[in-house]
Amino acid sequence: MSGEARLADYEGIAPAGSLRLVRHLAQGLSGRTFLHVNSTRQGGGVAEILHRLLPLLEEVDVRTRWEVIAGPPEFYAVTKRIHNTLQGADLPFTPGMQDSYLDASREALRHLDLEADLVMIHDPQPAALVDGRKEGTRWIWRCHIDLSRPQRGTWSFLEPFVRRYDGAVFHIAAFARRLPIPCYLIHPSIDPLSEKNRDMDPREVERRVSALGVPLDRPVLLQVSRFDPFKDPLGVIRAFRLVRKVRDCILVLAGGSAADDPEGAEVLARVREEAAGDPDVHVLLLPSDAHADINALQRAATIVIQKSTREGFGLTVAEAMWKGRPVVAGAVGGIVKQVLDGITGHLVHSVEGCAYAVRRLLGDPEGRRTMGRLAKEHARHNLLITRHLADYLQMLRLHVG
Ligand code: UDP
Repeated sequence: MSGEARLADYEGIAPAGSLRLVRHLAQGLSGRTFLHVNSTRQGGGVAEILHRLLPLLEEVDVRTRWEVIAGPPEFYAVTKRIHNTLQGADLPFTPGMQDSYLDASREALRHLDLEADLVMIHDPQPAALVDGRKEGTRWIWRCHIDLSRPQRGTWSFLEPFVRRYDGAVFHIAAFARRLPIPCYLIHPSIDPLSEKNRDMDPREVERRVSALGVPLDRPVLLQVSRFDPFKDPLGVIRAFRLVRKVRDCILVLAGGSAADDPEGAEVLARVREEAAGDPDVHVLLLPSDAHADINALQRAATIVIQKSTREGFGLTVAEAMWKGRPVVAGAVGGIVKQVLDGITGHLVHSVEGCAYAVRRLLGDPEGRRTMGRLAKEHARHNLLITRHLADYLQMLRLHVG
């Protein structure tokens, strides 16, 4: 199923008893209003999960709404700068940028309806909306990025807003900052019933993968990622070449077209140069809605690689684990909370380490199967939307229960 899911559809998929827990958590919250605010309705992990979570909250009788902060093109340029500098980029964040951000925020306050028992503000873009907070409502700031080493100027601009919330939520402890308000940890999640993760008949897998030009006569190594330097696709090719000295296999690097991202286009050009003339390296450019093809590729892969050198949470790892794939991944960001080293896959720190782990796994089909099974169970208990739903219900009980 990839349309709107009902709670009962997760029976037999979510861990046993977890749906009962969800229904119990929802008792006493009936009719409470829960508003989410972010900066886009389409594209990106935050929007993707909100589309799936909100109907489930409604189903347990929490009245949910979703508002989007919009602004002129300068606003998006500024919020991108805020995003990058909060994650440590050494770029200026000027008073002019601060003014555009505050102007867009003031403008949004004129037309957004921010009335709700609990308001969850996602990421820095709408953070200053706390200026419009109504008496008696509770506000939570949900941060989806790594705040451990922000550029001081940007953080000192944003922090006074964040301090006015009733709590802040981070993906993992390593991304959090010390704040004088309660801080919570909630991992993101994947939806096992979405098009990207739903069960898929092996014939459909084969049909889709063949249509992408990927042969299935040899083991397949796969990385699905934006063409971004921190995802290290060139490192993946180097690791593949080391593996290939001793084991026959092919490599698939699948990512978006990067047409609107100059840095991505540059990385893609270098990847293509590196792969040129090697028929066993397949660089696939997929449209943004190629969810079923990504699903098929992940299911067809012998080993999934996510050799990031810097990462947010790394949802591609959760997606692969849910499909029972062993994952060899960089020991960074949220990846270390997903891959149990030596049990569901391997955490690696270098090209050589990646090649070594992949080589060993290729030579050990039984070990791969065991790891894949354990990966799926780990994902079932920790990385599914039903767990996320329970986390949000707990947040509601804590603040407006
Ligand atoms: N993804 C996609 N098409 C692509 C590359 C990635 O749909 O060409 C998806 C991928 O399946 C995952 C998400 O985008 O669901 C990427 O999330 P992740 O947390 O791994 O990385 P991010 O891109 O947010 O850094």
